[in-house]
Amino acid sequence: MANEKQPATLAAQALGFIDDTTQAVVPPIYTATTYQRAADNSFPTGNVYSRPNNPTYHPAEDLLTALEKGADSMLFASGMAAATAVFQTLKTGDHVIAPKVMYWSLRNWLKQFAERWQLAIDFVETEDLAQVEAALQPGKTKLVWLESPANPMWSVTDIAAVCQLAHAAGAKVAVDSTVATPILCRPLELGADLVMHSATKYLNGHSDVIAGALVTPRKDEWWEQLTAVRSQQGGVLGPFEASLLLRGMRTLDLRVKAASRNALAISEAMQQHPAIAEVLYPGLPTNPYHALAKQQMEGGFTGMVSIRIKGGAQAAIATAAQLNIFKRATSLGGVESLVEHRASIEGEGTPVPDDLLRLSIGIEAVEDLIDDLNQALASL
Ligand SMILES: *Cc1c(COP(=O)(O)O)cnc(C)c1O
Repeated sequence: MANEKQPATLAAQALGFIDDTTQAVVPPIYTATTYQRAADNSFPTGNVYSRPNNPTYHPAEDLLTALEKGADSMLFASGMAAATAVFQTLKTGDHVIAPKVMYWSLRNWLKQFAERWQLAIDFVETEDLAQVEAALQPGKTKLVWLESPANPMWSVTDIAAVCQLAHAAGAKVAVDSTVATPILCRPLELGADLVMHSATKYLNGHSDVIAGALVTPRKDEWWEQLTAVRSQQGGVLGPFEASLLLRGMRTLDLRVKAASRNALAISEAMQQHPAIAEVLYPGLPTNPYHALAKQQMEGGFTGMVSIRIKGGAQAAIATAAQLNIFKRATSLGGVESLVEHRASIEGEGTPVPDDLLRLSIGIEAVEDLIDDLNQALASL
């Protein structure tokens, strides 16, 4: 069974793919939008039209399913398309719990959508189980949305514990696992009912594809509804992007572990720096989520680090301006290191402190990254 092999092997070989027709070791790109019916009026391959389904997706979907130890996966046109599909399966009046600090664009969309769709939504600190428990309304709460580690403070939520509480109240749990990736954490093994990824980030890893994905532990009724949302709303990925995504995923294990090693070394170095007030990274033993992260994650603590600059917002922006190797850009999970002053991009109402710089650590030589940060901080 393919699933028994190590993630690095599964990924590098795209589950051992060999094309039946040509023996090619890389899957073909199917550009066709439509497929011929057989003379008996059936579709013998199951392919009909490429809005509901494109065979180019399958190698990447199957690999993601194997890495997450799920039953099925679906690619979407973006992480937002994948995430919003989940909420569109809810009904007016349903109650939802979501994290207070989470991926900002999704939080904004969710607030607007909840109003229009008349969902009752509570944003709570999901890291605090007592808050989740207090917010759950048995029978009424249909979904608990988690993000772990969560943007951009990297707080870690106890996924198994939330699943127990939510399931006892009759609610499902979906986890935005974009930052952890299946290399470091597998929410389905912890009881989650759905995993979501912005495949734009670590899964693709090269800052050149926008894509999203959902992974299910069961091919159940909810999965059928989600399949219908993708097909009917048409938030589908192009076949070229699906092919690029698979190419990126082949090095997922290598990249995530390298970025995590770099991020830990950078966190340790920056923790001592006199210009830095705080380093937010669950890999540091002093981090409040360290014990939980060690238990829930393996192989590293992600490549995402945030630093708080003592001089406040202006000093944080000035630091970013002085960096040479780190590029000042949004997004995360690419092979190149990025820096971003989150409060500037999130704008009014953001819960993110204005002295915070988010670092997406890439796979460059860590000495170069530390030197770059030191020279930028020295210029303050
Ligand atoms: C980027 C991101 C998203 C949204 O994904 P897109 O591919 O940009 O649509 C959702 N969640 C997290 C944690 C992200 O980093």
